[in-house]
Amino acid sequence: LSSSSAASDVYKRQVRIISMSFEILYWIVLIGVFIGLALLGRRTDLQLWVRVVTALVIGAILGFVFGDIAASSKWIGDLFVRLIKMLVVPLIFTSLVAGVVSMGDPKRLGSIGIKTIALYLLTTLFAISIGLLLGTIFSPGDGIDITGVDPYSAVQSSQSVSDRLFGIVPLNPIGSLANGDVLPIIFFSILLGIGIILGGNKTKKIGEVFSSAAEAILQIAHMVMQMAPYGVLALVAWVSGTMGLAALQNLFVLTVILYVGCILHMILVYGGLIRLGARLPLKRFFKGILDAQAVAYSTSSSSATLPVTLQCVETNLGVKKTVSSSVLPLGATINMDGTALYLGVVALFSAQIFGIQLELSDYLLIAMTATLTSIGTAGIPSASLFLLATVLSVIGISDAQTALIVGFVLPFDRILDMARTVVNITGDATVSVLVAKSENDIDEDIFRSESVI
Ligand code: ASP
Repeated sequence: LSSSSAASDVYKRQVRIISMSFEILYWIVLIGVFIGLALLGRRTDLQLWVRVVTALVIGAILGFVFGDIAASSKWIGDLFVRLIKMLVVPLIFTSLVAGVVSMGDPKRLGSIGIKTIALYLLTTLFAISIGLLLGTIFSPGDGIDITGVDPYSAVQSSQSVSDRLFGIVPLNPIGSLANGDVLPIIFFSILLGIGIILGGNKTKKIGEVFSSAAEAILQIAHMVMQMAPYGVLALVAWVSGTMGLAALQNLFVLTVILYVGCILHMILVYGGLIRLGARLPLKRFFKGILDAQAVAYSTSSSSATLPVTLQCVETNLGVKKTVSSSVLPLGATINMDGTALYLGVVALFSAQIFGIQLELSDYLLIAMTATLTSIGTAGIPSASLFLLATVLSVIGISDAQTALIVGFVLPFDRILDMARTVVNITGDATVSVLVAKSENDIDEDIFRSESVI
């Protein structure tokens, strides 16, 4: 007996040594790649997005090769996310106040607001229709057996629309700033901007302070973005190392449908709007927001991506602050087309698993609740999955059944979340370009020029 336990000790030690050497090898390769990326960064002719996209691809490959070991560098990605999240509240506050002040006329807010909300709703309805269509044609839930799945207990229902509307008015604006509650911050910043305009000469100085402060925060965003290639690489390596292949095995059809749906939505709906609505070149649009898309893909959070989206849209696409500073923060909070598309597909997936026959009226109900739920979804990882109960309950799926679906999807949700977050922020950028174009608040020379940061 003792000799066999000694043998197993030796075996365990060997396993430990092998896995440690793999980890050391991983870090050597990682540091080598980082040095390579840093050297690439010294070439001034090479734009940042090239390095970010290169990092994304290398990260996926490293994760694939090293598997779980890639999780050991996740902290680099987390650090990057903290750095950009740090900027969200100060950036929304300062640039929105400065943006409103630069409009010069509070009446313009009305027309920008109406166009923005109408476009946000319109694109979301398209997204959910694409989700429902693909989910019906390809039936991702057929043949999937979820017996034996651990139910996920913390399924919540989304905040009701009336609560959310009421919550827009802050009881204490400083409290909202401290808690990072975006909608009340937006509300207060717009009012402050209007106050500054109405104050005329007496308040001119504070308006200038906000615009300098916004510029300073953008400069910090610029610095933080230099870390993007490393952060993106670490996050993507972690995802592909810990859940890549498993997701493809268990949720293959669902994953493919979601990715195809997201790509279709971006090309047809956003592409159509930019090309036909704003009459601007599509290639430039997508190139200009590639950095933001890569950050959204690796962080799975549209609110963490917001500083990068703002920077891309203003610097690469020439959208003026008057539009971007209100349209984008609002979009990062309420406009989630990828999420709506996903909710539609998962609703059908669930109905197929539980053998529920859907009528036309059910489709309409799903579309309506998915739209409202996507508005109520926070821009953070996996937020919408936890709100699934709201959508599923309208087609008669119980909370206990929803808990099974969430338990089944959750381990692999990251891969799905990455795709929908890219669509979420691309939708915000699209609407900001359209609104800016119609308000004459876009510098088309910048949009059409070849240079991007
Ligand atoms: N992660 C998504 C976002 O931040 C929200 C979701 O879970 O669908 O945009």
